Amino acid sequence: MRPEPANCSLCKSAAERMRKRGPAGFVYTCPACGSFEMGNAALRQAASLGGALQADLRRLRQYGYRPRIDFNSRDGMRISPADTSRN
Ligand SMILES: [Zn+2]
Repeated sequence: MRPEPANCSLCKSAAERMRKRGPAGFVYTCPACGSFEMGNAALRQAASLGGALQADLRRLRQYGYRPRIDFNSRDGMRISPADTSRN
């Protein structure tokens, strides 16, 4: 699947995103936030996030992970290392 232009879901910068499956969502590449995955449910919540997640994204990336952002009603927003072996 090819990248498409999109505004970053976290900071609204001009960025690129690519749809992915297993787990479904998008991989964003943003000049400000770097590269991260976002699940579909998290995307629907992204407007309320602001930049609150960016420190967590940065920390995961320092450890060499691509961060993935997911949302579910029990845990709320959750950031974890993406499984990049299945891309
Ligand atoms: Zn961004």
